[in-house]
Amino acid sequence: MNTITLIEKLQQETVLAKDEYIYLIENCSEKDREILAAKAREIRESYYHKDVYIRGLIEFTNYCKNNCYYCGIRAKNRNAKRYRLQPKEILECVEEGYLLGFRTFVLQGGEDNAYSDKEIGHIILEIKKRHSDCAVTLSVGERERDVYLYWHNCGADRYLLRHETASKDHYEKLHPEDLFFERRMQCLWDLKEIGYQTGAGFMVGSPFQTAGHLAADLLFLKDLNPHMVGIGPFIAQKDSPFAQYVDGTLEQTLLLLSLIRLTLPKVLLPATTALGTIHPQGRELGILAGANVVMPNLSPASVREKYQLYDNKICTGEESAQGLQSLAGRIEAIGYHIVTARGDYAF
Ligand code: SAM
Repeated sequence: MNTITLIEKLQQETVLAKDEYIYLIENCSEKDREILAAKAREIRESYYHKDVYIRGLIEFTNYCKNNCYYCGIRAKNRNAKRYRLQPKEILECVEEGYLLGFRTFVLQGGEDNAYSDKEIGHIILEIKKRHSDCAVTLSVGERERDVYLYWHNCGADRYLLRHETASKDHYEKLHPEDLFFERRMQCLWDLKEIGYQTGAGFMVGSPFQTAGHLAADLLFLKDLNPHMVGIGPFIAQKDSPFAQYVDGTLEQTLLLLSLIRLTLPKVLLPATTALGTIHPQGRELGILAGANVVMPNLSPASVREKYQLYDNKICTGEESAQGLQSLAGRIEAIGYHIVTARGDYAF
């Protein structure tokens, strides 16, 4: 095997065998990563040109009933300062975002039973009633299929649920016993089958992750064929059981972004906040590696710091929705531009 032959094969066939992905992940030189990124940009531009889609991210609750070992808003973290936005406050965020030019709103939160399924449904209905030109994306974790269906019927267009890892053995090292690999995977298949534009994804460099796990992630993504993939580096959170583990790297996250772009050519692929947190130019570099989406934060400034999934999360500068002008400037500087549009998957 050699890296250049494998990169060409991936470009032509949009998939590799597991051992080939492993070989690429383990052996890519800096030069190889540049070649991969250039091919990723080429394929991304063939579908989405130089457009970068923006999503207004509303982190509406940091209460969560789960205890994922990596996460700062896990139920058992007593140091987390908890907050929950009222429906009225969520709608105010949407209004502010709409004026700023956002046409997609992402409602993300922990798994918080304080909001009934109906309440969430009403928020979706209200957003769609006020702004029929906007897409609503949900990211509120694992639910029953009929709840996903109900929210879809209320007007939710998209759903983000990272699979976290496609390997059961690895999943069980990242999560406590009451969270099940099979259930998370089933949620993703349900979401797709219901008709959501569906997003999966994982952390790069999470504890115990091997190149084999990452190769399995790529093959799972090929099989699921989601519309969106969210990846970012794992970043240790000081109050979590994984506080002592090392963070994922910029280089490996960029490599995975390029591999995902070549594996799923049309995918909506964000350059995430976590990538912007580990490197000051993380998001621009993400776009140059094949990403085509950024998700500025629209949550009220007073709660932004409390949604601490990991340490040092950026939340007050260009990644905030109010910093959109300067983010737009930075994206122009690398030859791309932010567009005001729903930014749907190129079906
Ligand atoms: N509760 C929803 C769910 O389970 O999908 C959405 C919120 S959850 C906090 C969003 C994502 O944050 C997770 O899917 C996980 O990949 C990411 N995340 C959590 N802790 C992280 C950490 N320490 N470093 C990087 N990403 C993290």
